[in-house]
Amino acid sequence: MLKLAYPAHSYEQTLDRCCIGITGNTLLLGKVNAERQVLEESARVYEASASTGGLHTLTPTTCGTDEDPLVVGQLKKSELIKLYGTYFVSQKKPGRIIYDSIMTAANEKCPFCGGVGRPRNLDHYLPKAHFPEFSVLPINLIPSCRDCNMDGKGETFANSEDKQVLHPYLDNEKFFNEQWLFARYLPDDEGEPGVIEYFVQPPESWTYNQKARVEQHFTDFDLDIRFSKEAGARLISLLGQIDSLASLQLPIEDIQTAILQPVIDSAPFVNHWEKVMCEALIRDL
Ligand SMILES: [Zn+2]
Repeated sequence: MLKLAYPAHSYEQTLDRCCIGITGNTLLLGKVNAERQVLEESARVYEASASTGGLHTLTPTTCGTDEDPLVVGQLKKSELIKLYGTYFVSQKKPGRIIYDSIMTAANEKCPFCGGVGRPRNLDHYLPKAHFPEFSVLPINLIPSCRDCNMDGKGETFANSEDKQVLHPYLDNEKFFNEQWLFARYLPDDEGEPGVIEYFVQPPESWTYNQKARVEQHFTDFDLDIRFSKEAGARLISLLGQIDSLASLQLPIEDIQTAILQPVIDSAPFVNHWEKVMCEALIRDL
């Protein structure tokens, strides 16, 4: 739900750096070099597909009876996964600089949950267990927080368009620029602050699949519970400020303008949980 700028390093540069690090495994180095064009072509297909919400059309690697099948030319699944683990993630290898660069570019905000969590590692949008050919493709590597961790979600992936979570690098701008997240304020009769309840309401003009995808994103990352929890703490302080101005007999509109509108106006993006919460308070208080 948070848009990320296109990675600074190209796939070509990434493969170059990984290859420089392959110092003792001439067999693997030879295979990677031999398949460079095929790997780069599959990256172009990935990019074109992701830009139109079509990553579900790519064919996953199936193991069948062979647990370590050939994936790209003579490159086996285990070798492509090793390319990531040993020659990209490893602190001692030249590829690591690109790993760190992608992490730093997220600016401490996990794009899946809109910055509620801080990224802890890179996740594969298409899991490397099923799409090993994209194991070190920068646009497949998303800085993710512990709670959003896609790699930890059992290596599942969407097999239809409507089941895909948002792709922070490549998805349609409308997912990031148009509002689909809303909330309502439910007051409490017993003197407690009440709760903010979040829900998805995409623009009417979106297609069925676009609407389904934001719903999927919201559900997959448990954003209802996680946003409500963030809002709970913030709500107490906002209601406190509102109450103190109300005790001065100020009209409610003035109070809203003074306290809630500045939060809305300064929101970093349109579907930010705090902005959406303040909009709900203006509507429901
Ligand atoms: Zn997250």
